[in-house]
Amino acid sequence: MNRLLKENGRVLAFGAHPDDLEIGAGGLLARLSQEGAEVTMAVVSIPNNTEQRKAEARRGAEIIDADNLRILFEEKPCRVEDIPMHELVRRMDQIVGDVRPDLVITHSAFDLHWDHGLVNRATVSALRRTPCDLLAFLSSPEMNAQSRGIGQCFADITSTIDLKIEAIQAHASQIARLDLESSRDLARATGRISGYQYAEAYEALRVRI
Ligand SMILES: [Zn+2]
Repeated sequence: MNRLLKENGRVLAFGAHPDDLEIGAGGLLARLSQEGAEVTMAVVSIPNNTEQRKAEARRGAEIIDADNLRILFEEKPCRVEDIPMHELVRRMDQIVGDVRPDLVITHSAFDLHWDHGLVNRATVSALRRTPCDLLAFLSSPEMNAQSRGIGQCFADITSTIDLKIEAIQAHASQIARLDLESSRDLARATGRISGYQYAEAYEALRVRI
């Protein structure tokens, strides 16, 4: 994954809820941004506390230094499972058409959270005609301890682990449910099996070499 993207590549990342991208892919997104990629973070839904969680998502995206933050369904609080699949895919189609990504990062199909699995299905569907690389992450490793998805490729996030933790911390309304220590521990443990100080694991769903 050293040169996953050429400079000025475009990255599009889908998270079901505010904070999922920071937890699952924040280290790699911050790194790609530092390396010159144009990063778009796309949050599908905001289940509650709309204004506060929107502000937290903006703060998280700022820390990651994403170029754009898009919220797909911001008109009213909702869960992903409340959105008809065809409507979700249609909005993803629009954003894929706008961004024309070289790399898409989305939830894993192995994620045990139902909403996260739906976002995986919708992403794969929205990319049916778009040639790009596609990686998937498990957003909440402690909740996914029983999942079969462990990832086969590893991103070195040693240079951005602190930004990742800070971006997770931006989600103050969720902080009681988040475990910053375990996010750092997991990145360190993932690093041990991949030879980096800190790493994130991804499934390679589609990679052009
Ligand atoms: Zn989520």
